[in-house]
Amino acid sequence: MIESPLLTHLKGYIGGQWLGADSAETLAVSNPADGAHLADVPKMGRVETLRAIDAAAAALDQRASLEQRARWLQQIAKALRAQREEMGRILTMEHGKPLKEAQSEVDYAAGFFRFCAEHVDRLGPRTLEERPRNCSWDIHYRPAGVVGLITPWNFPIGMIAKKLSAALAADCACLIKPSAKTPLTMIALFSLLERELDLPAGKVNLVTGSAAPITDALFEHPAVRLISFTGSTEIGRELIRKSAEGIKRLTLELGGNAPYIVFDDANLEQAADNLIANKFRGGGQTCVCANRILVQGEVAESFAEQVAQRVRRMRVGNGLEEGTDLGPLIDDNAVAKVRRHVEDALSKGARRLAGGNAGAASGNYYPPTVLIDVPKDALCNREETFGPLVPIATFQDEAEAVRIANDTEYGLAAYVFSGDLERARRVAEQLHFGHVGLNTGTGPTPEAPFGGMKQSGYGREGGYEGLYEFTEAQTLPHPE
Ligand code: NAP
Repeated sequence: MIESPLLTHLKGYIGGQWLGADSAETLAVSNPADGAHLADVPKMGRVETLRAIDAAAAALDQRASLEQRARWLQQIAKALRAQREEMGRILTMEHGKPLKEAQSEVDYAAGFFRFCAEHVDRLGPRTLEERPRNCSWDIHYRPAGVVGLITPWNFPIGMIAKKLSAALAADCACLIKPSAKTPLTMIALFSLLERELDLPAGKVNLVTGSAAPITDALFEHPAVRLISFTGSTEIGRELIRKSAEGIKRLTLELGGNAPYIVFDDANLEQAADNLIANKFRGGGQTCVCANRILVQGEVAESFAEQVAQRVRRMRVGNGLEEGTDLGPLIDDNAVAKVRRHVEDALSKGARRLAGGNAGAASGNYYPPTVLIDVPKDALCNREETFGPLVPIATFQDEAEAVRIANDTEYGLAAYVFSGDLERARRVAEQLHFGHVGLNTGTGPTPEAPFGGMKQSGYGREGGYEGLYEFTEAQTLPHPE
């Protein structure tokens, strides 16, 4: 069992109270590093969700000023920074990522609350003139209503921070459903919210349990106006269908298939270092991880060797141990997917430069692996691998790089490395991806809008664009 001062309640949080499931059923949470049982959390469903929506609807009536919202947001940012070590430890135990990375994720999360606190005044009303009639209108940014926030397991605090910060800035009341694989970090966050803030009861609610009945209740209830979801494209599609009946607004942050393009004039060392940092973040289980490594013909072999050298030095192990570079994958299915992608690529002619053989995985671990000469029809070029695989393929010229990079239904993140910035910018403009890094493999920040094009979803998180996601603009005549 996990012990933590932030986990004294292993429960959901509804209407300002810690509650179990009505049925008293629970779900087990385990540590992917060794399979150890960490905790049991309530297996809630429809009834508890409806209760939480009612609590949230009641809390919506208590409107908060912009100053009050800014204060809450700053308090959350401060509480997260103060508890980064403990939050990080809980996160590592349920997710598996190295401790330093988990603590950086807590800092990253705090950044979203800070950003929204500093810019919430943008949501104040603005006045505009209507020339022909010589009158004025006020535009008010109203809270969208009760909002459902559904998050995946790969960033247990980062993903909710993006949503909750903007939802509180807009003065919405929230129901949060974390992934059943990583609910503990969220429970820890709620302990902080309860301890450090004076939020009205029902303003934030936590419902742990089975995804389908919880989301179905969110879609059915008229008080819920918006559902913000981060997860797979497959489930995103299902939610779009479900949203039709009640015309619910959706924000969808879905899957990716990021191309990482390295031109022959790039600084190869810099490109290799950035690839390691990008690709192996969270064990390769992030939506912005490079999935297809495209290298210009002449330098492919030497670039691949530089990456392989770095990969051979990586230490794989329990994320809590000092010096671990790569933790376990989240579960057996994740390991099986990486294995399938590696075997498929090898069977189609790829060569392995680093990594164990496909059978070398033990437990939830998979050795970081580098393949070269990966053919275009390999599975890993079509699907998100979501694991520590670096599949390298070659291209001949700019046009071919752009064509291959865009040859995917996804459009989340892409990266371009070139010594010629003009060329890098020219290529970036032709890429259909919401985020494009130039000579860097870094991902989203609180200051910039982030989100997908094509089947990677719609809506934006972060930046001013993200601030408006949870609002409804209402136009009223300006008082005389
Ligand atoms: P997932 O299976 O789609 O799950 C995401 C969330 O949806 C979880 O809370 C999950 O609950 C819930 N869920 C599962 N089945 C559902 C259903 N039928 N109806 C409603 N909700 C349901 O995705 P995941 O495996 O957790 O996360 C990995 C995916 O997320 C990858 O594709 C990754 O690219 C994407 N992602 C995208 C972004 C972005 O910003 N675009 C960021 C991070 C991750 P349970 O876990 O309890 O089943």
